[in-house]
Amino acid sequence: MHQDKLEGFKKVLLAKKNAILEHNAQHQSNVEQMRNIKGDEADYATMSAENTLEKSIFQKHRQELEYIEIALEKIENGVYGICEMCNEHIALGRLKAKPHAKYCIVCREIIEKDLKDKV
Ligand SMILES: [Zn+2]
Repeated sequence: MHQDKLEGFKKVLLAKKNAILEHNAQHQSNVEQMRNIKGDEADYATMSAENTLEKSIFQKHRQELEYIEIALEKIENGVYGICEMCNEHIALGRLKAKPHAKYCIVCREIIEKDLKDKV
């Protein structure tokens, strides 16, 4: 991949990474605040429901963060944008939509189909 494009993806990935880290820090302080508040039980239930939603977002972010780290490493190693399954180049349009994509669209579909079949 051209160096200019690579730098562009690196910037996008770093920006995403920072946004997630910021959100996670916010999440962390929210959780701590909730622990310090001792409301009545109804309030606690509401907070707990919100907390569950927050937690699933948090977990999703943590996984995304992992993928972003891997993508950044790939940029450093000069293997960014190469499908992990077939070693073909991942289409630029796909990388623009999902810069931390690990697989090309063809392999992605195979994997998704495979997962569905197992469920
Ligand atoms: Zn592939």
